[in-house]
Amino acid sequence: MNRTYVIQTLGCQMNVHDSERIAGSLDAAGYTPALEGQDPDLIVFNTCAVRENADNKLYGHLSFLAPTKKANPDLQIAIGGCLAQKDKGSIIKRAPYVDVVFGTHNVGSLPALLERARIEQRSQVEIKEALEHFPSTLPARRHSAFSAWVSISVGCNNTCTFCIVPQLRGREKDRPSDEILGEIRALVDEGVTEVTLLGQNVNAYGVDFGDREAFAKLLRECGKVDGLERVRFMSPHPRDFTDDVIEAMAQTHNVMPHLHMPLQSGSDRILQSMRRSYRVDRYRAIIEKVRAAMPHSTITTDLIVGFPGESESDFQASLDVCSELRFLAAYSFKYSKRPGTPAAQMPDQIDEDVVAERYDRLHKKLNEVSLSVNEDVIGSELEVLITDIEAGRAQGKSRDFRLVHFEVSGEEGARPGDVAKVKITSAKPHFIFGEKIEIRKSRGGDAFELRKMEAEKNGVFLGVPQLKSSLVK
Ligand code: SF4
Repeated sequence: MNRTYVIQTLGCQMNVHDSERIAGSLDAAGYTPALEGQDPDLIVFNTCAVRENADNKLYGHLSFLAPTKKANPDLQIAIGGCLAQKDKGSIIKRAPYVDVVFGTHNVGSLPALLERARIEQRSQVEIKEALEHFPSTLPARRHSAFSAWVSISVGCNNTCTFCIVPQLRGREKDRPSDEILGEIRALVDEGVTEVTLLGQNVNAYGVDFGDREAFAKLLRECGKVDGLERVRFMSPHPRDFTDDVIEAMAQTHNVMPHLHMPLQSGSDRILQSMRRSYRVDRYRAIIEKVRAAMPHSTITTDLIVGFPGESESDFQASLDVCSELRFLAAYSFKYSKRPGTPAAQMPDQIDEDVVAERYDRLHKKLNEVSLSVNEDVIGSELEVLITDIEAGRAQGKSRDFRLVHFEVSGEEGARPGDVAKVKITSAKPHFIFGEKIEIRKSRGGDAFELRKMEAEKNGVFLGVPQLKSSLVK
């Protein structure tokens, strides 16, 4: 077959990982990743539906691709992910030159649908309302040789009023923990040294098989995997965040001292309207317990600005909680009205200009706070997993999730995947600089080097090939 492909991934880490599974399924069906500058035979969009601009982005890309498809009818276009799960066949109505639309519950059926579209010379739409197989049973082409996403559950049982995810990803389904640990051990055998456990609501893990302590137990089991140096997870939900998880984090050597836990708003009135089932006091209490158990831990979060009914004092409460809880970083979003969500029907939708002005103020506040949190570590030595090296400048993540930049000389032969000890010299809101003290060669670095050599020898792309911007605007 030897048809080449690229994948454009929009949205969250779950989608980034699903794209690895989509790429793995295409490889298994005989496709190959397109090389830099090569026009692909297949373009896959793995879409997001959380925010309105996600829709606009996809349909913008598609309209730009129409003349390319007209000029090359052999080019295939496939749409997957949450927007496909939401819009189904209406995508074909808006863009009849799309060949395949597949959903979040049947990621693995893409190769067969592409074949059927070619044989029958007509578009194929296949959306399942419930999960058939865990995507984790599919082969994966991973972005990194040493850092891997491992999904532990899909779907969500919560009903946040702004969120469309439960409608598109379904109710929570948990993977058996021995299957998760089996995947992690196999990854470590391949050279992976860091895993990130993924789920819409990781600390509800176990609800599916009735074990409320399953997530803490899973973290502790990760601590027994030889060669696994770093364990991270996202995203937990404050309502289900229990003390056993904090203890497991603090007492398991390879669980990193960083917690990404969405708060969404600093106002109890807005949290109630969001149906987030916790209030700021509970969130604060969890953070205090985490910091008591792991004094050097860092916290990152998600915040929404401009939720319906948000008053100036509600917004001020969000600003105040950022200063008080000193987030290392926060992913902040302008509220986006999603048809089909309760919040979309709510009165008091906030004027866009007001939302934009508050968004800028929040950003300013977050930058001030992040800078001061990063200044705390000037003078200290941090362990950094190198993720990238370019022109003698290395970057990577510290154990507590800070982005660290430092110089390396060519002779040392440092590689992505290796681990550096770095003395921090200065700070910016979103990263810190340091001087390299030493480089520890790691199995992750070996895995990176091996994969790079194989890719060069076989002339194949390293990782999941992205869509080049010249093809879409
Ligand atoms: S916890 Fe809330 S915001 Fe997160 S996926 Fe579930 S419903 Fe959506």
